[in-house]
Amino acid sequence: MVDGDGAARGREAALKVRRMKLSDRRARVAGLYPELSTTEIAAELGCAQSTIANDVIALGISAPVGPRRKYPEPKPRQCEECGVKFRPTASQVERGYGKLCSEECRRHRGGLRATTERHRRADEQLARLNADGFLTMRQAADELKCVESSLHRYVELGYLETAGRRRVEGEWWTLVRREEVERFKAEEWPAIRARHAEMRREDLERGWPVLPSTWGGRARQRHLGRANATKPPKPLAKPRGNQRVELADDEVKRIEKFADRGWGRRAIANELGIGPDVVRRVLAELRRSRTV
Ligand SMILES: [Zn+2]
Repeated sequence: MVDGDGAARGREAALKVRRMKLSDRRARVAGLYPELSTTEIAAELGCAQSTIANDVIALGISAPVGPRRKYPEPKPRQCEECGVKFRPTASQVERGYGKLCSEECRRHRGGLRATTERHRRADEQLARLNADGFLTMRQAADELKCVESSLHRYVELGYLETAGRRRVEGEWWTLVRREEVERFKAEEWPAIRARHAEMRREDLERGWPVLPSTWGGRARQRHLGRANATKPPKPLAKPRGNQRVELADDEVKRIEKFADRGWGRRAIANELGIGPDVVRRVLAELRRSRTV
């Protein structure tokens, strides 16, 4: 045998261990472990460390590496937030934690708690303001059975006087004195309602349909002829369709570059922070200019 041939030496060592009876090897391992590590015993007997590690396990004398477990291993449990089965670490349980499965669930729980707390404080403030004779615009609108934005318009038109704004838990509340709401309700409101009723009656007489409140801007534009009319708009009237967005030359160049790379209209629009309709228009114009 050639000395220094690693593979040959390995084979020789393996043979030597294999020639040793299993019970003999285990007896020797039992005598050496745990004073010597499995690696050291493997070197001593000339076999693989994994062989000795298996012997140690088979002998039932395997000692885990590191210090002994300080606390019992926790049992699997359900996350209090999402219900998923998980096993917290012993130290988490020992410190009174281990009820939530993940960072996400902890954040969620914390956020909910913070929101509930903020709402509770806001409710307290609202009760105090009501006791002091103030209403919020929301409360006033509820009382008049209209929407908040209408009331804000009547404030702008000078029909209703507010008592200033106040910042409550991160929100701005517009306040109105209760007497002012009562005055508005008695003096202004009937006339406003009568005027609206009159306007609706006139619309009906002219044959103008009342637009469904579910219609969005585009549907209204189409219905009123702004989106799909063929005639040019009257002087000083708004132009047909959506407002035209003017782009700088370098923005048009970027759209062209992305389109040449095969990007879609929406992808380009998102990238540049503009509407997909604008991209469509620019691309159509580019195509036209290229074919000419
Ligand atoms: Zn969870």
